[in-house]
Amino acid sequence: MEKEPRHWVETLSDRIIAEKEEPYIITSGITTSGSLHVGTLCEFLFSSAIEKYLRSKGYRTDFHFIADIFDAFDAVPVNLMKYEKELTPHLGKPLCDVPDPVGCHSSYGEHFFSEAIDVMEMLEVHPKLERANVLYSEGKFDSITRFFLKNHEGAKKVVSESSLKQELPSEWNALMPVCQNCGRIATTLVTEFDESSYSYKDVKDVKYTKGCGYEGENKLSDHHYKLTWRLHWPSWMEVFRTSVEGAGVDHHTRGGSWDTVLAVYKQLFQKEPPIGYKFGFILLKGKKYSKSKGIGLGVTDILQLIPPELIKYSIFRPDIQENKDIDPTGYNLMRLFDDYAHASTVDLSSRELSRADRKKGIAFSLSADRMRWKASFADILMYKQLYGDWNKVGETLHDPEGVMYLKPYVEKWIAEEFAPEEYSFSFQPTKQADMELLKGFAGRLKDGMNAIEIHNLVFEFARDNNMKPEELFTQLYKSLLNKEKGPRMGKLIEAVGVSKVRETLQGM
Ligand SMILES: [Zn+2]
Ligand SMILES: [Zn+2]
Repeated sequence: MEKEPRHWVETLSDRIIAEKEEPYIITSGITTSGSLHVGTLCEFLFSSAIEKYLRSKGYRTDFHFIADIFDAFDAVPVNLMKYEKELTPHLGKPLCDVPDPVGCHSSYGEHFFSEAIDVMEMLEVHPKLERANVLYSEGKFDSITRFFLKNHEGAKKVVSESSLKQELPSEWNALMPVCQNCGRIATTLVTEFDESSYSYKDVKDVKYTKGCGYEGENKLSDHHYKLTWRLHWPSWMEVFRTSVEGAGVDHHTRGGSWDTVLAVYKQLFQKEPPIGYKFGFILLKGKKYSKSKGIGLGVTDILQLIPPELIKYSIFRPDIQENKDIDPTGYNLMRLFDDYAHASTVDLSSRELSRADRKKGIAFSLSADRMRWKASFADILMYKQLYGDWNKVGETLHDPEGVMYLKPYVEKWIAEEFAPEEYSFSFQPTKQADMELLKGFAGRLKDGMNAIEIHNLVFEFARDNNMKPEELFTQLYKSLLNKEKGPRMGKLIEAVGVSKVRETLQGM
């Protein structure tokens, strides 16, 4: 079967343009229950890529990003265990009603939403920011909620069938009231309701917390409730008139919550549903990031190691449903830099474009408006190791701005010891047993030779002396770096300076 020749954003955008009306509304959201993990980046990066692409074609769009901070606080994250005592009494409450343990925001949910906003800022993602608690309190969900209560049996049937559950518990209700006594939302049960009010009792045991036993009643117009997730999700799409929304493959399984979205639209709202797309996980060297298990580097770590446009590029380049491997270590990151530099040169208007290059070129255009550096990453790294001085590196490579832009990433990368062994070195001339051989080689280095000519000279000189080139390479590395390996010899000698290498070897 012929593989899809186009980039996923083209295919998806064509479908949006064919099936939906302008302005195209893109929505997505997260529950800010703790620090962002790398997987969370997908929740806004794909939406922003779709928006960027549609806008580049002249279409009007709107992108709403929803913080689900009305969700229940259901676990103290591993990295907040030092606040366990203060936080535990608040388990089961909406995240917007849990105090910020660090004390800098109005709530726990706001604290982590603010972290997410900072990351979006760094990645140049600028959606309209929405908060679920505010949307409910403004009455945006009122009419949909009344509709679900009026059609209680129908809603229950749709949720039950679409989630492949034979039967939902008899007490199932579209509403999750907030207990007026203790403030929990996770433990309440609706006992009676009509279209404008409801009674409830706070009696559920949800393992991580228990209801306080309070029995109360409330009016919908007081907005002390949230819809259950399976109905809340399609409802926010109805609130925003969503054209397109994506979700992880886990929501797109048979019986997953996307199936409920489709069923709610078709059977209850009796409308065409938004276009859905699914995306794979982000992995670090093949391992799925897991917030609860604390696997993998945090988003802030990754953002200190890899420039934002490169993170976006590596997420936008593969097919959207594939898992993406972000690997900031060794040659993997160096290859990503090289690939990105190549992608920046792809001419998308060319007719002879290969399928792979087309995808790379589009991924590049989604990642940034221009290339911020010219020098190759390997060169920057090598010159930094040789000179130490960033200004000199920038000047030598004729790219002072680009080098300064990459400086913090390279420094962090070296500090984390992610640089390949060959690139951890300094210029350390060291006398070897057979200096005559090395002096002979030095004698054939001519001013003005470039990296390739020097590289070829190593082979030529080894042949003339009946030795294996590898042996000569090792001798040279040992004499110049006091190590058995290093960056490409031609590049290294060129970087140190041909005459300096010649004089160094001849003077030993
Ligand atoms: Zn805070
Ligand atoms: Zn209660």
